[in-house]
Amino acid sequence: MKLISGKTIAADIRETLRQRIESLKEAEKRLPKLSVILVGDDPASATYVRNKERACAQTGILSETIRMSKDTTQQALLDVIYRLNADDTVDGILVQLPLPAHIEASEVLMAIEPGKDVDGFHPVNVGKMMTGMQALLPCTPKGVIRMLEAAGYDDLSGMRATVIGRSNIVGKPVAQLLLAKHATVTTVHSHTARIAEVCAEADIVVAAIGRPKLIGADWIKEGAIVIDVGINRDEHGKLCGDVDFEQVKDKAEAISPVPGGVGPMTIAMLLENTLEAYAEHEKGGRGHGSAAV
Ligand code: NAP
Repeated sequence: MKLISGKTIAADIRETLRQRIESLKEAEKRLPKLSVILVGDDPASATYVRNKERACAQTGILSETIRMSKDTTQQALLDVIYRLNADDTVDGILVQLPLPAHIEASEVLMAIEPGKDVDGFHPVNVGKMMTGMQALLPCTPKGVIRMLEAAGYDDLSGMRATVIGRSNIVGKPVAQLLLAKHATVTTVHSHTARIAEVCAEADIVVAAIGRPKLIGADWIKEGAIVIDVGINRDEHGKLCGDVDFEQVKDKAEAISPVPGGVGPMTIAMLLENTLEAYAEHEKGGRGHGSAAV
């Protein structure tokens, strides 16, 4: 079994980005900047935002976090986004989700200028991804594809891939990006009949459901490649994925762990997207974003 270590792959990507920013510094160029908006005091969101700040600092990307109270109005939040959209020193804007219930998240995400949408959630970027145009791609799905590439699975022609989960932020875009890599893709979800049987036909399984260790050995074909996106706590409170790693590891040809799998890739892709948004911004082509995978 080959372990697909997102931690190692992400560290390599971050080092490459750090070197690129180092050269910008040496050339006395403007540096890329990410603005993160955190609304409310959800402790998990605060931790995610701190991790993003730290990752930016280590790479040399400038970052700022705009903290707003949980009672903030939708209009006040939109006004901050409009200001950041117009600010030429800002290359990426990220609104940490979830937002408080009184705020319409889709309207907020729609307000972000597509060329600064480093999360890749704006419908313009989603539409461009779907049609194979250049776009800022959503970080977690992009990270999944980069893990497959780094593990030597680049051209997926002739391979059957099953994505478990159909959320807008993970399942659907992962399926689309696998299709772009020429895999034959099936998406399964909570309404799928004989789900384990369907998954057991796949050469590649990407699990994104949020159910601790639900995916056991009977879901996985001998020699399959397994990428586990899930982040859950097991019955002992330990971090685990959607895949039962111990059961599946000897059956899979390659498998990603949790922790140390997709999680670190998501942050690396956020940094990469910020740099790509910066590069487009510098070219004066804001609104196009990064090259499609
Ligand atoms: P989500 O929005 O809750 O979507 C979950 C999907 O899984 C839905 O499509 C749901 O089906 C399906 N599902 C749930 N239970 C199922 C079951 N028993 N059998 C089959 N399908 C089932 O979750 P998400 O945002 O996509 O996240 C999924 C997991 O990935 C979570 O653990 C999350 O924490 C993790 N995640 C990790 C990262 C990272 O950076 N590593 C990033 C994002 C998310 P229906 O559509 O039919 O309801």
